[in-house]
Amino acid sequence: KKYVYAFAEGNKELKDLLGGKGANLAEMTNLGLPVPPGFTITTEACTTYLNTGSTPEGLDEEVATHLAALEKARGKKLGDPDDPLLVSVRSGAKFSMPGMMETVLNVGLNDQSVEGLARQADNDRFAWDSYRRLIQMFGKTVQNIEGEAFEEALEEIKRAKDTHNDLDLDADDLRQLVDVYKGIVREHTGADFPQDPREQLTAAINAVFDSWNSDRAVLYRRQERIPADLGTAVNVVAMVFGNMGMDSGTGVAFTRDPGTGEQGVYGDYLQNAQGEDVVAGIRNTVPLQDLEKLDKTSYDRLMEIMATLEGHYRDLCDIEFTIEAGQLWMLQTRVGKRTAAAAFRIASQLVDEGVIDLDEAVQRVTGEQLVHLMFPQFDTSAKVHQLGRGISASPGAAVGKAVFDSYTAVKWSRSGEKVILVRRETNPDDLNGMIAAQGILTSRGGKTSHAAVVARGMGKTCVCGVEELQVNTKRRFLTAPDGTEVHEGDVISIDGSTGRVYLGEVPVVDSPVVEYFEGQVDVSTAKDDLVSAVHRIMTHADSARRMGVRANADTAEDAERARRFGAEGIGLCRTEHMFLGERRQHVERLILAEDDEQRDQALEALLPLQRWDFLQLLTAMDGLPTTIRLLDPPLHEFLPDITELSVRVALAESRGEKNENDLRLMQAVHRLHEQNPMLGLRGVRLGLVVPGLFNLQTRSIAEAAAQLVKLGKDPRPEIMIPLVGSVQELEIIRGETEQVLKEVAEETGCDLPIMIGTMIELPRAALTADQIAEAAQFFSFGTNDLTQTTWGFSRDDVEAAFFSTYLEVGIFGVSPFETIDEDGVGELVRIGTEKGRATRPDLKVGVCGEHGGDPDSVHFFNKVGLDYVSCSPFRVPVARLEAARATV
Ligand code: PEP
Ligand code: MG
Repeated sequence: KKYVYAFAEGNKELKDLLGGKGANLAEMTNLGLPVPPGFTITTEACTTYLNTGSTPEGLDEEVATHLAALEKARGKKLGDPDDPLLVSVRSGAKFSMPGMMETVLNVGLNDQSVEGLARQADNDRFAWDSYRRLIQMFGKTVQNIEGEAFEEALEEIKRAKDTHNDLDLDADDLRQLVDVYKGIVREHTGADFPQDPREQLTAAINAVFDSWNSDRAVLYRRQERIPADLGTAVNVVAMVFGNMGMDSGTGVAFTRDPGTGEQGVYGDYLQNAQGEDVVAGIRNTVPLQDLEKLDKTSYDRLMEIMATLEGHYRDLCDIEFTIEAGQLWMLQTRVGKRTAAAAFRIASQLVDEGVIDLDEAVQRVTGEQLVHLMFPQFDTSAKVHQLGRGISASPGAAVGKAVFDSYTAVKWSRSGEKVILVRRETNPDDLNGMIAAQGILTSRGGKTSHAAVVARGMGKTCVCGVEELQVNTKRRFLTAPDGTEVHEGDVISIDGSTGRVYLGEVPVVDSPVVEYFEGQVDVSTAKDDLVSAVHRIMTHADSARRMGVRANADTAEDAERARRFGAEGIGLCRTEHMFLGERRQHVERLILAEDDEQRDQALEALLPLQRWDFLQLLTAMDGLPTTIRLLDPPLHEFLPDITELSVRVALAESRGEKNENDLRLMQAVHRLHEQNPMLGLRGVRLGLVVPGLFNLQTRSIAEAAAQLVKLGKDPRPEIMIPLVGSVQELEIIRGETEQVLKEVAEETGCDLPIMIGTMIELPRAALTADQIAEAAQFFSFGTNDLTQTTWGFSRDDVEAAFFSTYLEVGIFGVSPFETIDEDGVGELVRIGTEKGRATRPDLKVGVCGEHGGDPDSVHFFNKVGLDYVSCSPFRVPVARLEAARATV
């Protein structure tokens, strides 16, 4: 087996084996770009090493062979006392994990070769600076010595010279520093800094392997959902030096602005420095444009190479480069990360440039990015004071007064204040505070922390893990790195899309993308090219997708918005809200009815109200299918709260009064009380137990439709029965429903074809879908309840109680209420669809649980062949886009 590849042997498709960096270095090498020679040790070597504790057999020999080739190419030998070859040893996994793993530079320097390097470069300072960097990085990475020990020594020497700038240290200072560093190594390891270059190399390679399992790498992978078993590749590259003098330097560049997508020259450059100096922000960089003045030849060459790379990768690339004494070298490239707005703009630009077609443009953006663009945003042109930056856990722009405990959050918000709940981390006790707050800010924890999970579940803005903020919840203030203190009551602004935290109130602007979806922007004259890009990509997405997209909407207002957002119908109208408010009294009468007459009276009172609801809804959805679900929640939800009622009755009694109605209500509440109402008298069970209830709803629907037909409209209601577990339940209800429809048709002379279907939201329904399809003209998977009943997780409690633990220990990477659990719940969806269609090949099948608007889930539903997804109006554009991305 081959464990080492020369750069010339690889290519960009080999990311699994060579990691992203290695594969792209190979690609650039083969494009004839100036890449320093080197080789890549595969991820397989890494996983073997991590699994067995030793490097695979033959690796040492392969490394030796490739090293020899490298020495030949450069005409130098590793660590040669007179003219040493030096190498860098760099990590590089399949997925970029910025700054999470290790790198060691200048391997090959020792007490002799440093003199040789100085002579060859005719530059003492450079040679000793390189040596001290090696000892520092090697000490930290390979020998696990606290980095601070070295940093302090460096600070000390600078203090002695009364400077803050590394460049003020001369060769003698650095030589002295090397001695101090060597002392630190001796002190910590009990041995001298290794002088054998080959020993240095092997140790550095193994240290990079080990860094795959460093705490921060493990945490990062968990957050980004990168599999833990991939391992990292190791790149051994001939050193080129950006710290050789003022005609040397190092920089980063983007072929387009990763923030906005605009074309132009973007990047930073730092003279006389090595790569880490840029990343670490030790000294101030200059804009890349300035390189043109400093070194025009290199600048022109860089521009040329950037154009080549964009043309080759057909996308925005980011680049790391070094200039060594006027000679340009490419150290890395990859297709670059970008903001949501940049992603849409760049995809559209590339279509204009003829680089990609619209199908590919649709693939270049994601539903998640679209979601980000749909939240209100901070006005970035405003002057802001940034306090820190953490993890963007749940998008949105929230402004409010900082509070440091949940009790205050609730108290202040009750009195009308907007608050941001600031905690070190949250726990289930913070739930009320989180609900009360505009947004949540924590200094600890990542994307799967309690705060992040719960906030996303609630659709609340959240920034977490802003480690640079010191949060003191006891004394109720936080401190930013620049010394700014924020006390309880001070206003802060948090941006859940970028993870940025600002002092004071940053103005918020409506999302131009939402304005576009709302039809408030004329695309042909839109000033913002973001809107045109979104329009273009969404238009193509609609023509490309197979699945339909409907909305979950209960009111005419929501339905109209859903239509504007591109919904092709309503997949779920929950009728329960129609029984609340003033109408509750009729429901009470219905439940308390002692004979048929009383019950019929209650039903009769409800009928015109319900009919009015459906008239509104069907008018809004004229010409489009509108699935109306008959009443689902447990009846007791429509009765007064038991505690309140008990108090009322007790008070009345103490006054010697007696309210007959209240007493009967009490009895009813007690009678209907259930320990597990979600598993109790709800859905189709209600329809079977409360005579006339479902018929009332059916009659209201049919009468409303008939009335609209007479007005020349085109209503298309569909009736859906919830929580069915067996075909017998459905058959009984269906018989009654058909009877009512027939009666209304006779009464009104208007015979509408109204489909009758069912929700599939119990495992038994999915498993007996072949039988259920005998009685149903359509299915809609209620994946909220199906997840609840398949896992046995209460959907109302579970997210707060123990999901953060489950996510932490990796039982699942994401809440199954958010993204469909393909193996379990998803399997039931697959089985249900298959069995249903076996009975009724033209069965229409959709989904209306929250998953209908979740990108990953949408792809899954497309795969198992559903006809449509239905989601909240705000998610409709996301579903349209993802349904297309699942097909093209
Ligand atoms: C479901 O259970 O997935 C569903 C859509 O119904 P509800 O959320 O109203 O229970
Ligand atoms: Mg349900």
